[in-house]
Amino acid sequence: MKKAKNIMNINNIARTIVALAIILVVVAVALVFSRHVGGGASDDEYRSIVVVASGDTLSKLLTEQGLSNAQVLDIAKVLKAEADITSLRADSDKIEFVRSDEGAPVSKIVIVPSPWRQIEVTCNADGQWQCETIDIKPDTRVIYREGEILDGDSFYLAGARAGIPDGILAEVYDLLAFEMDFERDVRAGQKFSVVYEENFANGEKVDNGRILAVQFEALRGNVKMYRFKTSDGKTGYYDENGNGAIKSLKRTPINNARVTSSFSTSRKHPVLGYTRAHKGVDFRASTGTPIPAAGAGRVVARGYNNGHGNYIKIRHNASYETLYAHMSRFAKGVVVGTTVKQGQTIGYVGSTGLSTGPHLHYEIIKDGKHVNPMTVKLPAISNLAKKDKERFLEYRKVLDEGVGHLSKHPEWFIQL
Ligand SMILES: [Zn+2]
Repeated sequence: MKKAKNIMNINNIARTIVALAIILVVVAVALVFSRHVGGGASDDEYRSIVVVASGDTLSKLLTEQGLSNAQVLDIAKVLKAEADITSLRADSDKIEFVRSDEGAPVSKIVIVPSPWRQIEVTCNADGQWQCETIDIKPDTRVIYREGEILDGDSFYLAGARAGIPDGILAEVYDLLAFEMDFERDVRAGQKFSVVYEENFANGEKVDNGRILAVQFEALRGNVKMYRFKTSDGKTGYYDENGNGAIKSLKRTPINNARVTSSFSTSRKHPVLGYTRAHKGVDFRASTGTPIPAAGAGRVVARGYNNGHGNYIKIRHNASYETLYAHMSRFAKGVVVGTTVKQGQTIGYVGSTGLSTGPHLHYEIIKDGKHVNPMTVKLPAISNLAKKDKERFLEYRKVLDEGVGHLSKHPEWFIQL
């Protein structure tokens, strides 16, 4: 993120939008025209584009273009040595062949392995092939979107209505799940906003970038998170005061899973029929849904018992353990002693043990005692040092100011 100058330069942004609209119109006209003349020919070159299909190999495609076996070998060698390209991916890679005219031999090959990278292989006067990699800089735009939960709505529905792309929504949910219980904290009328990046190449959106800020007016208070890079280069999310927003454990390990049974010290057991404590939270999810570790730690138990069915227990630190029950199966390679990362799949949802249907039963154990995952105060993974905190507060002020402008003009974005 650049400084205030960029954010405040609203006139320029408006001008950029107008300019882009003109460019888009020009591109559309050019495309229609080139289709009429055929072959995408330009003034002094003949270009043909091949989209790699399954079963295509580099040598097959090159041979089809009339290149000799020796040339194919040379090209493969130079591509491997200088661009680390040994194979092509079907349906995503494109190869462009350039000739001086339609009947001439290929003089240049352009491979586009990603929207951000282009590799040009050219034949020089001595018949030697040379390779050049061109990195394409994304044109990154900061977008602001806000939404509101309506009656009977889910966060996903409201987010989609607000125009937030699916991938970003899933990440936002993941972030908020550290702080919020979507089952209990979400009500109609609540507002939320997301500041995120979209990457463009040649005026067309290619992918989403990072999430810069998130806000949700939850029942238990306004949740705000800002992405920030510390002076030692670590990136994290912090609340408005600069405290770590990412907690050591997640309250809801599985995204978008409905809570079907809450933590309680006494409830009627659905299978046993009599009243006993429910020491965890149940999340409904279909059989086979991956179960991510709620936090980083070490697997201390993996097994089967009549109540929990297939279960895993993870020790996170001196105080915290989590337990995951009723799994249909364990993730490959996750055994007692395995060190797991936060979010790593440890097993899959099932209905083993005392269970009425597929769900995840999730427990948090603090100092040997079961606590309510939805309400327990969880420690942050990291907080900012004093100097970083000052920088953070300054950055947050600038970002908030920029976002203030965007919120009044949903069609605007910040050009980075
Ligand atoms: Zn349960």
